[in-house]
This record gives sequence, structure tokens and C-alpha cells, in this order.
Amino acid sequence: RAKDQEKSRYAIFDPSMQAMVAERLQLEGDLRKALDNQEFYDRNRPQEFYNHYQPIVSLKTGKIVGFEVLVRWNHPQQGTISPLKFIPIAEETQLIDRLGWWIFQEGCAQLKRWKEEFPHLFFCLNINVSAIQLKQVDFSQKCQEILQSFSLEGSRLKLELTESCLLEDLPKQIAQLSEIKAIQVQLCIDDFGTGYSSLSRLHEFPIDTLKIDRSFIHRMTSSTGHYATVEMIVALAHTLNLNVVAEGIETGEELESLIKLGCEFGQGYLFSRPLDSQAATEFLRKNLNPKT
Ligand code: C2E
Ligand code: MG
Ligand code: MG
Ligand code: MG
Repeated sequence: RAKDQEKSRYAIFDPSMQAMVAERLQLEGDLRKALDNQEFYDRNRPQEFYNHYQPIVSLKTGKIVGFEVLVRWNHPQQGTISPLKFIPIAEETQLIDRLGWWIFQEGCAQLKRWKEEFPHLFFCLNINVSAIQLKQVDFSQKCQEILQSFSLEGSRLKLELTESCLLEDLPKQIAQLSEIKAIQVQLCIDDFGTGYSSLSRLHEFPIDTLKIDRSFIHRMTSSTGHYATVEMIVALAHTLNLNVVAEGIETGEELESLIKLGCEFGQGYLFSRPLDSQAATEFLRKNLNPKT
């Protein structure tokens, strides 16, 4: 018993764990501070969050069909911190709510500027939405308000949901998603194939697009199993009348295979890395007037 106690005490004071907890708490506090700075705009303080935009293209024509908004955090001491690290913290602390609406507004402001500069181009903005944001009863109401404040049509917006958004309380989720669809906003399932959503229920959700996770694309040219998985997702999407986007295309070989399988859209370093707003604008100009 004494030994057990000693063990558990040891566990509590394990220095590496303590360091981890301390780091987490620190980041949580910093996240909160950064959001306060961002929302109560003060030009003497640097803005820590900003959006990057990654082009989504038609694999047949190479034309831009949209941009995915990917948030970035420039931490004052630590430099750039990956969203893979800070989004989960924002989710656990509910800070994702404030951060999410900031990303949304900023994205819409950018889309409005693009609309003005490129009036003859139609492309969409894809925004990642976490399950916690989607649970709010006034979610679609707020989307609509923001779209209206920037005079943007709902059809210009696509929300990327993860499969975990579709796991619990099915009728409620379907009602929520239908409300979003009613304002013409489209819905994608992100990282498709990595979650646990039930294939037999997929058709019950009012979704428009499946995005094939990049882990499958990355291995499709070296592993027949991964190739077959991609083939199956493309076929599934088409059977259900959904669009399909391949994420993380890095090589010409992957592109060729995807075209052969009939995948229409794609995104990845082969076309472009995520870009800051200025570089994304430049990318649009080039896409519009390709130098051949
Ligand atoms: P995601 O939504 O699946 O975003 C795609 C990720 O793949 C991005 O990573 C992007 O930079 C990366 N990527 C794109 N093309 C390639 C490629 O060709 N090769 C490789 N190796 N990677 C590629 P990022 O920006 O680090 O974002 C990671 C994840 O963080 C996102 O995955 C998304 O789940 C989350 N995230 C990012 N921004 C937001 C946001 O604004 N809101 C929410 N809720 N989550 C976000
Ligand atoms: Mg995404
Ligand atoms: Mg994704
Ligand atoms: Mg992914």
C-alpha cells in the first residue's frame, strides 16, 4: 500500500507531466490574451491570428474553384504554432467559439475583397467548423448575419465538418445542417475515411461534398489498399451524387491516378501551399491570365 501511494505520488509530481500541464495552461492563457487583442483591435499590439488560403482546383481544367481557410497563430514568444496544436486546446476551453467567428468574419471580408477585384470569377470559400461550434443553436442564424453584413450569397460558402460532427444526436444534427443548407451554404465532410461515421447513414445528411483525407492520397501510388480506398470513396461520392475533393496532392503521379478515377477536384502542394491573402490574390490573378 505504501508502495502504491508512493507510486501515485510519484505520478502526480512526475516532472515531465508537470511541464506538459504547465505548457498547456500557458498556451490556454496566451490563446485567451491573443483573442482579446484581436477582438478589441489595437494597432499598437500585433495581431497574432491570421488566415491562410489554399486553392482548391478543378483537376480537369486547373481552374480555381475555391480556397480553404486555414488559421495561423503567430505566438509572440514561440513563433508559428500549428493549428493541430492550438485548435484542440481552443475546443476544450470553448475558446473555439470566439476564434471560429473571428476566422469566419475575416474569411468573409477577404472573399468580399476578391469578389470586387474579380467580379467575373465564381469561387467559394471553405471554412473548417468544429463540432462544438456546430452544436450552438444559433449557428446558422449567425452565419446568415455575417454573410449579409458582407453582402455575400450563402452559395459562396462551404463548411468543412469532420465525421465527429455527425456522430451524436442524429435528428438534431440533421435539423441543424438543414438549416444551414436553407441559406444555400454548402457542406463538406473533411478528412473523409478517417472517422467512424456510418456509411449506411451518410445519405441521410444534407451534404454536398466528400474530401478524401490526405493520408489515403499520400499512399495511393505505393499501396494498392490505399488506391482501392480512394477508388471506393470516389465511387461512393458519385453514387450519392456528391462532389469529391482529394486533399494533399503532392505529385503528378497522384494527380494522374485521381483523374483516371474520375475525381473532379483537388488541393495540395502540387498546386499551391496555403498562402497569405496577398499571395492568394496573386495566385488568382495568374489563374485568370495564365502565361502560356
Ligand atoms: P484540414 O482541414 O484537413 O486541412 C488540411 C491540412 O493539410 C492543412 O494543414 C494544410 O496545410 C495541409 N495540406 C494541404 N495540402 C497539403 C499537401 O499537399 N501535403 C501535406 N503534407 N499537407 C497539406 P494545417 O493548416 O496545418 O491545418 C491542420 C488542421 O487544423 C486542419 O486540417 C483543420 O482540421 C485544422 N484547422 C485549420 N484551420 C482551422 C480553422 O480555421 N478552424 C478549425 N476548426 N480547424 C482548423
Ligand atoms: Mg479542412
Ligand atoms: Mg481536410
Ligand atoms: Mg486532412
